[in-house]
Amino acid sequence: MKLTILGCYSASPRNNFHTTSQILEIGGDLILIDCGEGTQMQLRKMKIKFSRIKNIFISHLHGDHFFGLIGLISTFRLYGRSNDLNLFGPKGLKEIIDLQLKYSNSWTDFKINFHELESKKSVSILKNEKFQVKTIPLRHRIYTNGFLFVEKHKEKKLNMNNIKKHSINYTDFSKIKNGEDIILNNGLKIMNRELVIEPKNSSYAFCSDTCYHQEIISLLNNVTLLYHESTFLEIDNDIAKKTLHSTASDAAKIAKAANCQKLLLGHFSSRYKNLEKFIDESSKIFKNVDLAYEGLVLEF
Ligand SMILES: [Zn+2]
Ligand SMILES: [Zn+2]
Repeated sequence: MKLTILGCYSASPRNNFHTTSQILEIGGDLILIDCGEGTQMQLRKMKIKFSRIKNIFISHLHGDHFFGLIGLISTFRLYGRSNDLNLFGPKGLKEIIDLQLKYSNSWTDFKINFHELESKKSVSILKNEKFQVKTIPLRHRIYTNGFLFVEKHKEKKLNMNNIKKHSINYTDFSKIKNGEDIILNNGLKIMNRELVIEPKNSSYAFCSDTCYHQEIISLLNNVTLLYHESTFLEIDNDIAKKTLHSTASDAAKIAKAANCQKLLLGHFSSRYKNLEKFIDESSKIFKNVDLAYEGLVLEF
């Protein structure tokens, strides 16, 4: 998986401060997660080809997460897109896009497959040969989902060092790949786990916007990378509570409880000039933490 951060701020966009938008690449497929204002400009800056985006996931209908969507859809048409676009987001998104197209006397030459979400429970919303996606119901001022992306099982690789060590014949290779143990001519049993290298299936959880919400922990167990919003620092905990947002400490508590490998913080309020304070605060609870600054590219 490869994650590219296009925007990481809350509220409204300003020069070099873009609202939430990310590109996730899985097996060559590009997924756009949220689409704040200015997403098109950020895609151009990062030299990401628009036509490669097949699926778009929108967490909720606050403007800082989807006001860039109609512009992007419009540009897709100008660029001559013909491939279907899959759009996942809260119920109401279809009506909004349809109305914007209607009243601007605009249209698309490609099909938009709307997948409107309204379940308050975690549901599987996309499964293909490369990955699967589940919703992570969040707690915010309006209906909001995070998304959990899990790579599909890659094939086990043969551990050739151990295979050679035991002089195992290539005719046994398919048995090994199927998970079988091997009995040598001298009767010695070699366990399958010694003969294969387990594939690493990465996972990515995107959680924005939400207050501290304990119920999501069981959905995030052992994820490779967790993006969790941290709009505020603890010093402004009262505003976080009021607006149903999280602090850096809240995000770290979730990452720790879910035993995530790495935490990425984002959705920062523009009131903070020094973002390092977010790292200072959260690393007291969860060590492996980074800021989702614009232009960050992470492979995992
Ligand atoms: Zn937001
Ligand atoms: Zn919001």
